[in-house]
Amino acid sequence: MKKSILASFLLVPALLLGACNSGDDTEKSSSTDSDKEVYKVGIDVTYPPFEFEKDGKYVGIDVELIEAIAEDQGFEVELKAMDFKGIIPALQAGQLDVAMGGMSITDDRKKVVDFSEPYFDAGVSLIVSDENTDIESVEDLKGKRVAVKKGTVGANYATSIASEVGFEMVQFDDSPSMFLDVQNGNSVALFEDYPVISYAIAQQDLPLKIVGDRLNDDQYGIGVLKGKNQEILDKINEGLENLKESGEYQEILDNYLAE
Ligand code: GLN
Repeated sequence: MKKSILASFLLVPALLLGACNSGDDTEKSSSTDSDKEVYKVGIDVTYPPFEFEKDGKYVGIDVELIEAIAEDQGFEVELKAMDFKGIIPALQAGQLDVAMGGMSITDDRKKVVDFSEPYFDAGVSLIVSDENTDIESVEDLKGKRVAVKKGTVGANYATSIASEVGFEMVQFDDSPSMFLDVQNGNSVALFEDYPVISYAIAQQDLPLKIVGDRLNDDQYGIGVLKGKNQEILDKINEGLENLKESGEYQEILDNYLAE
């Protein structure tokens, strides 16, 4: 294609220049076996159906999406598994180029992260044991113990109402540990994203249930360091758009979410 020939002519001087200035490109690593850029992508592999480990491989909606975007846009990804709470700090420390963890787009995060166009509608839910009959809304959490996952929108939401409602919070690094705390009866409730808890309940037959409607309408976005990585962000948005048009985006979702 004309465009890609032109692009590679333009890229050569750009790469040479890149070698002697300290511009935005310095934190990207280069692959040894191809001339494609390799972007380091931070993921939370305790978060099916978005990111998880299966047969020794990282899979899930987020993993397949970023790999398909990379394929479409001619870059490569190196996946880095970490606790969700560590992803944005790692982006800020220059250890990652891209943050992807079923990560909700929030105004707070927008102070340090530039987000792609939203790619999934999520939203936080309240969850209790499937035998519980006394918790019908967050107000009923008064005097109870509630499990949350560090650094998440669910934890922030719980924190924002904890003193008003009057409940105690216990924090976990990953979602499965938080689910277990409620299954074991240590905590009476937890907050988790609706698609994640519905998938966990269905796939693992967890003795948990969702209470009421979603508490917000969070959407997921792919993040890069604010103000530093417009070029990566443009590729991500363009790739996402192309995948939506080609139907591949929907195929990836259906692959995990269709019955
Ligand atoms: N969507 C939630 C958030 O952004 C939770 C993400 C996660 O636990 N991986 O905070």
